[in-house]
Amino acid sequence: MILATNNAHKLDEMRAILSGHTILSLADIGFSGDIPEDADNLRANAIQKAQYIYDRFQRTVIADDTGLEVDALGGEPGVYSARYAGDGHDSKANMRKLLDRLGDNENRAAQFRTVIALITAPDGEVHTFEGIARGHITTAESGAGGFGYDPIFQPEEYDKTFAELTEQQKNEISHRGRAAQKLAAWLCSGQWTVDSGQ
Ligand code: IMP
Repeated sequence: MILATNNAHKLDEMRAILSGHTILSLADIGFSGDIPEDADNLRANAIQKAQYIYDRFQRTVIADDTGLEVDALGGEPGVYSARYAGDGHDSKANMRKLLDRLGDNENRAAQFRTVIALITAPDGEVHTFEGIARGHITTAESGAGGFGYDPIFQPEEYDKTFAELTEQQKNEISHRGRAAQKLAAWLCSGQWTVDSGQ
């Protein structure tokens, strides 16, 4: 399967989570460039990214779209998580804006939500898998691991942020890990046979 992302962290996580499957990067298939994602919800964005690569290569593709949904902000930044602080895609600025918006609000409950879209070759069928990780937004950044909003998100299962967990600990409970476990279960369910020509 091809993973349609330019995010090296996502590629590492997906390869670790789906370790029984071969995940090709965009570089592996000789694609470089941006993939459009301009829908207004995670599912449509994930499908849009996967479809963009499927249309060019006709090979089985997965793509994910993720949002951080903060209860007290009515689900913000949600589908706009990547460009919350503007078009720079800078995680530091995004985290700063989120901490500013929350201020000293005591309701800091939040969740990460991922939708993985799978498009299978040669039929072009679309399947989606969702994963959610509940937790809360801390008052300051902590930890150097992970990426994106990880330093300010503490999952329910730990007294640490995602950025303080090992990659394996994060993957076991994360939104992306949970969505990928559903994908892996589906792949193993016998509903799909690998097209060896792909
Ligand atoms: P996208 O799915 O690449 O559009 O990501 C949306 C935003 O969420 C980006 O700012 C990412 O850095 C952030 N993000 C995606 N996945 C994670 C994660 O696992 N932890 C923290 N931030 C994430």
